[in-house]
Amino acid sequence: MVLYRDYPLKEFTTVKIGGKSRCFFSPKNVNELLEYLPRLVQDYQIFILGGGSNTIFGNFKGCVISTQTLRGFSIKKKTKEWIELEIFGGTPLKDLIKLSVSGNWSGLEGLFGIPRITFGGAVAMNASAYGFEIGKLVKEVRFIDLNTLEENIDSAPRFGYRSSPYRGGAIIISTRLRLYKSQSSVRETIRNLNFRRKKSQPLTLPTAGSTFKNPLGFFAGKLLEEVGLKGYCTSKGLCFSKKHANFMVNISKRATLEDVYELTNLAKERVFKTFGVVLEEEVQLVGEV
Ligand SMILES: Cc1cc2nc3c(=O)[nH]c(=O)nc-3n(C[C@H](O)[C@H](O)[C@H](O)COP(=O)(O)OP(=O)(O)OC[C@H]3O[C@@H](n4cnc5c(N)ncnc54)[C@H](O)[C@@H]3O)c2cc1C
Repeated sequence: MVLYRDYPLKEFTTVKIGGKSRCFFSPKNVNELLEYLPRLVQDYQIFILGGGSNTIFGNFKGCVISTQTLRGFSIKKKTKEWIELEIFGGTPLKDLIKLSVSGNWSGLEGLFGIPRITFGGAVAMNASAYGFEIGKLVKEVRFIDLNTLEENIDSAPRFGYRSSPYRGGAIIISTRLRLYKSQSSVRETIRNLNFRRKKSQPLTLPTAGSTFKNPLGFFAGKLLEEVGLKGYCTSKGLCFSKKHANFMVNISKRATLEDVYELTNLAKERVFKTFGVVLEEEVQLVGEV
């Protein structure tokens, strides 16, 4: 087993913000994970890292467990109408594009344009976009409960808005997921939705996606715009994007978790004062300034 100490985390996030973690573990396979997990859980607080597209780190006194090597998928069942796959948690979503397009299998089209997103991260967050929601496709989740360290299979998984029972308390090892034969062209849909995403989101800059969840009946981006924060930057160059106010962009690539707190606290304060609405982070903030 290779266990890293004081490991720099910045490059593991799409927003390029991170300090160091006291321990970093990237298991070679599930057996190695199962072998060392009891010791790690005893010594450290654990954070499970997928593609880092929704995660922002400070300095973390715990242990980051990366799923980057726990990847791959296989076809379990196939009919004329659907295909069922078993997919390891660390598999990037983009690894399924070829299969989806060649078989015209539908379900993930709206999510393919998200940089570095993995299946474990998508299921933990119940990622959704443009009417495509991963939770609706999931038939079964195989996970390790971080409290009991037991391996479980959930055959009736339940999901909420950007939430699942696995976030924080479990490691998703693999997911059984069903894609459905489409009547329209999956390739065209992916192309159109990627185009829409590029037009409305700052995809060429370091970002962690939506900063806040949409409060019931509101769009967080619109609220931030109305309180004058679109394009607002900290002195170290972390800004609410001019393209989409709910996306923070690390223009300078020098921002830290401190800048993130500066922006999120300011946004929460202004939005509450103006609209009486409480904003809640969608991004996962890990560690301390
Ligand atoms: C440009 C951009 C656009 C985005 N657009 C969207 C969008 O349209 N819709 C949307 O829903 N999200 C969007 N996101 C946010 C993000 O991609 C999703 O939240 C995604 O689900 C995170 O996946 P990840 O693998 O990167 O997870 P990470 O950021 O690594 O982790 C996110 C959370 O999932 C947990 N996690 C990760 N892997 C596992 C695992 N194997 N087992 C248990 N828990 C795990 C982590 O502990 C953490 O709590 C966007 C992000 C970016 C950068």
